[in-house]
Amino acid sequence: MPGNYTIAVLPGDGIGPEVVEAAVRVLEAVQEASKGLRLNLKFGEAGYNCIGKYGTNLPEETIEMLRRTDACLKGPMTTPEDPGMPPSAAVTIRKIFGLYANVRPCKSMPGVKALNPKIDLIIVRENTEGLYSGVEFEVSPGKGIALRVVTRAASEKVARLAFDLALKRRRRVTCVHKRNILRITDGIFRDSVFRVAEEYPSVRVDEVYIDAMAMRLIKEPERFDVIVATNMFGDILSDEAAQIVGGLGLAAGANIGDDYAMFEPVHGSAPKYAGKNKVNPIATILAAGMMMEYLGETGAAGLIHHAVIEVLKEGRVKTYDLGGHSTTQEVAEEIASKIRNLPS
Ligand code: NAD
Repeated sequence: MPGNYTIAVLPGDGIGPEVVEAAVRVLEAVQEASKGLRLNLKFGEAGYNCIGKYGTNLPEETIEMLRRTDACLKGPMTTPEDPGMPPSAAVTIRKIFGLYANVRPCKSMPGVKALNPKIDLIIVRENTEGLYSGVEFEVSPGKGIALRVVTRAASEKVARLAFDLALKRRRRVTCVHKRNILRITDGIFRDSVFRVAEEYPSVRVDEVYIDAMAMRLIKEPERFDVIVATNMFGDILSDEAAQIVGGLGLAAGANIGDDYAMFEPVHGSAPKYAGKNKVNPIATILAAGMMMEYLGETGAAGLIHHAVIEVLKEGRVKTYDLGGHSTTQEVAEEIASKIRNLPS
């Protein structure tokens, strides 16, 4: 029996409000189509747009609101670039809620040009440490140092999630690192992944250096199942992987913790397209689908996934990045109406 959930919705900056509006439209259709499912959406402020008003991109009220919800659907946010400005709101939410794993599926979709029609992989990236901790110092004018912290505890935790995912898939995990150069930090990460592998004898594990992996994602992407990496390597690889299956407009991500999770498109706030009702909302809609899966609502998640596939397969209603002329909200409405008309 479908349940009752309180969901935090953060529209964000730039194209964020448009793609989030599109995903909300689809969630409303899912609620109509799934008897008993109740989604209580709580909208909150976060992002660059808050800095002038609150002096921060993540106001305290928003953090408190997130604490009272079951999961968060987050739009992209513009990250302040000047030193001294608040860090990325996404990074702060990941830290506060201990969202230690970033999960980004990449799959060839019907009707979308991909490098190879058989790509079906997931990138699992450590989400709390590494170079993205953003701990930097200017030790003397013109000389900066960034800390790359890697711990066995965090590496084993993200590795376990990668192996658990692999158990439900093709049972293969590839550990990506650069231990030949970063001997201590990537040595800890690599050894942690292989230590956890011993607990999963039915999953095959191998390892690839990050630079070789960037090449092999182009050369033979169909060979990979679950890829596990440290924070920055995983982030860069997942943008590359998004492109080989059709671009950022389709790429969704989940930030998973022990007690909370946040779902978002992989893309950023694309300021030049803000307010134009032009960009692809599917990444955010698929993120909403991943959220339903996380909440245990596999029926609702399946409805979203199926409707997206149908719309892509038909290829009638699509945004500019997929070679079409439809608007953001037209794509959302097409997916929502498919959901209303699909047998539940
Ligand atoms: P971006 O992802 O915003 O945009 C890069 C390009 O990708 C766009 O110009 C557009 O051509 C394309 N694109 C992105 N989303 C699309 C969509 N839904 N449909 C069609 N095409 C799409 O990357 P950027 O320009 O490097 O970053 C802009 C801002 O977003 C920066 O401030 C950056 O820090 C921030 N950012 C935020 C997040 C986040 O909130 N999680 C993630 C990445 C970047």
